[in-house]
Amino acid sequence: MARDRARETEARLSLSDMSPEEFRRHGHDVVDWIAEYLQQVDSYPVLPSVKPGEVRRELDEVVKGGAEPFQRLLEDFDSTVIPGITHWNHPGFFAYFPTSASGPGILAEMLSAAVNVNAMVWKSSPAGTELEEHTLDLLRGLVGLPDGFFGTINDTASSSSLYALAAAREAALPTAREHGLFGAVPGRIYASEESHSSIDKAAVTLGFGLEGVRRIGTDDQFRMDPAALRQAVAADIGEGVRPVAIVATLGTTSTSSVDPVNDLADIAAEHDTWLHVDAAYAGPAAIVPELRHHFVGWERADSIVINPHKWLFTPIDCSVLYCRRPEQLRKAFSLTPEYLKTEEHETATNLMDYGLALGRRLRALKLWFVLRYFGSEGIADRLREHCRLAAGFASRVEREAGWRVVAPVPFSMVAFRFCPTDDDGATDAADRINLAILERVNASGEVFMSHTRMNDRIVLRLCVGNLRTKEAHVDRAWELLREAATTVV
Ligand SMILES: *Cc1c(COP(=O)(O)O)cnc(C)c1O
Repeated sequence: MARDRARETEARLSLSDMSPEEFRRHGHDVVDWIAEYLQQVDSYPVLPSVKPGEVRRELDEVVKGGAEPFQRLLEDFDSTVIPGITHWNHPGFFAYFPTSASGPGILAEMLSAAVNVNAMVWKSSPAGTELEEHTLDLLRGLVGLPDGFFGTINDTASSSSLYALAAAREAALPTAREHGLFGAVPGRIYASEESHSSIDKAAVTLGFGLEGVRRIGTDDQFRMDPAALRQAVAADIGEGVRPVAIVATLGTTSTSSVDPVNDLADIAAEHDTWLHVDAAYAGPAAIVPELRHHFVGWERADSIVINPHKWLFTPIDCSVLYCRRPEQLRKAFSLTPEYLKTEEHETATNLMDYGLALGRRLRALKLWFVLRYFGSEGIADRLREHCRLAAGFASRVEREAGWRVVAPVPFSMVAFRFCPTDDDGATDAADRINLAILERVNASGEVFMSHTRMNDRIVLRLCVGNLRTKEAHVDRAWELLREAATTVV
């Protein structure tokens, strides 16, 4: 302890960083902490039992200002931060779209932080740029997309879709960049009623406004209805509105439904309109040969978003945007002040030209590690197993009196509902019962599921997507649901 103190004093006086030997020691402690955490993550309650403000109050109490030994930071992390963590790495995590921070991904994050690359332009880190290009070509091949899709990594699908729609705006309304949208003809983005809210946010941000998004109705399997889209586009054109983009979702958020992208591509082609595909969750499933059929036609899209930080074992954040017309992205975003000009500007890729962010960390490394460590067959085997577990859960729900699966299960997500009177249970009382079941099940600490609303009724969602989830965890989820239903009714 005294020696530590002396070393700290010395470090402070020398104005240097943590010493290499101290780094090595604490680094080993941190790796040990992570290994142990991953090994026994299921011993934590998946949802923390904290109230808003509780974590903050503890933190305010613990931190007094002034230098502290690293060991204490680690202890406080354990005692004040961890109790307020929702454990996304928990095998009982079935809510939203589960994610996994896999071993290779976590280790790559440490290396990325160490080299601290900022690949704004090629020159500011050549390997940063070229590793991203190489890795995204690798992934492109795995999901079966042809050459010509240029990939970039963004933080989230929300950013990726925003950039894609900015490129679509550039293509449809090329004067907008110079003059803004004031006085321009109104533009429209078409997406299904089931599309993600990030599309609306992008429309707000890009100046189309919420009215700039037309929500197209879906069929009985929650897929966009191409005939309704065709009609909406024709009606808009008749009124002088310019179609800007059609957004197809492959794997919607509420039910994981799959829009008929090939039909939508026909309509986009007829009107020379940008086709954006949101496959944030389901995209990695295209690696699995027997699931590839869901994606037929997506290669006709102008842009596609896939999130490796969802169902591809890459620690958050990592969202990939593939674009077949990268020059439109460049037209939308490229702006090079003198201080960023380099000799290689014309001959090399400068990733700052493809989105809003200038700074770019080495996000590609974790994806590169994940793809190579598991290999395409290893990844396919794992995704296939998640689908098998989801299908097994769905068939048990189907067989049980009073329970219904409310949508097809193309991937690893099941939308279902308890119908207490064993009819279709479309009542407010049934909604309340379903929410009560969910609350009870989530209070167990063993599993975490989420809900949505379909046809104006509460629906429960169970999605398998974590690397550590095994059959026993899904079995337990079902047991908890049935117990809760009995208790609640
Ligand atoms: C998760 C999801 C998004 C948003 O993803 P972020 O990376 O959190 O912005 C968008 N679309 C779909 C279909 C999703 O599943």
